[in-house]
Amino acid sequence: MNFLSQLTGLFAHPAAENPTVAMIEAAYQHHNLDWRYLTCEVTPKNLEDAVKGARAMNWKGFNCSLPHKVEVIKYLDSLSESAKIIGAVNCVVRRGDKLIGENTDGKGFLQSLTEKIDPKNKSVIIFGAGGAARAIGVEIALAGASNITIVNRNQKRGNQLAQHLNSNTPATVNFTPWLETYDIPKNTNILINATSIGLYPDVNAKLNINLDTLTSNTLVADVIPNPPQTNLIKDANAKNCTTLDGLGMLVNQGVIGIKYWANIDVDPTIMKQKLEQIFTA
Ligand code: NDP
Repeated sequence: MNFLSQLTGLFAHPAAENPTVAMIEAAYQHHNLDWRYLTCEVTPKNLEDAVKGARAMNWKGFNCSLPHKVEVIKYLDSLSESAKIIGAVNCVVRRGDKLIGENTDGKGFLQSLTEKIDPKNKSVIIFGAGGAARAIGVEIALAGASNITIVNRNQKRGNQLAQHLNSNTPATVNFTPWLETYDIPKNTNILINATSIGLYPDVNAKLNINLDTLTSNTLVADVIPNPPQTNLIKDANAKNCTTLDGLGMLVNQGVIGIKYWANIDVDPTIMKQKLEQIFTA
């Protein structure tokens, strides 16, 4: 290993081959940064030691994937406002001698979204109540969305997320159980799939929604990066909706992470091309 390099990486368990690694290293190379982004297999019982190791070796920061996103918090010095509300950290940044927890999942999504529409005072439907829905819900509420409806199969989870967003953000948030085909309310400005429906290899899976109620006035976003052209995105394009695929969210997370670590604005097209190569291989 070249010890002149600045180190960053991904703490994952197991450390499966991850497209984020290729995407971030492509950006480092493109911008001539003598930096590395390493995948480290970290078991839950070794997480504390792994964080101590990153501190000791002056790592500039690292990403955490499941199951470390909540557990890592107790080993950090402080959290950003949204990471505090989300209650999960996927990106750790060294500032001085402190390790700060950030959450770039929702921020990456918001960056893609705001390129198309300002969420302020908008009505939003979010399908799902897991980690992605939570991160997106917090960021979109803090960005000024007025009404958010969480639609989820598991009612306890859905209710908890709606209550959490109501208590911690200025938005008005409701929960609708997803027990049958969902009719999209007429005033919906933004519809987001934050479930895992459509993720490879289940590429034929479809959201149980009434497509007759989807109009071109609604922006449709999907968090699924692989494949980017999910059935939802294809159906929404056929309805002339503005659409956002999950690649943009993934790329923007990387862009934001590198900005935090290296304080440079990287070219997102390099990262997107790298992901497209991987997902279409
Ligand atoms: P979780 O496991 O925390 O949550 C999964 C959610 O999907 C739950 O709300 C679950 O509902 C719902 N769900 C799954 N299958 C079905 C189904 N058949 N019908 C209805 N609902 C279903 O996962 P995450 O929130 O962490 O991740 C969700 C997706 O987001 C993943 O596919 C991941 O790839 C993607 N993602 C994309 C990112 C990007 O950068 N593009 C970043 C982060 C995540 P229930 O509660 O009822 O079980």
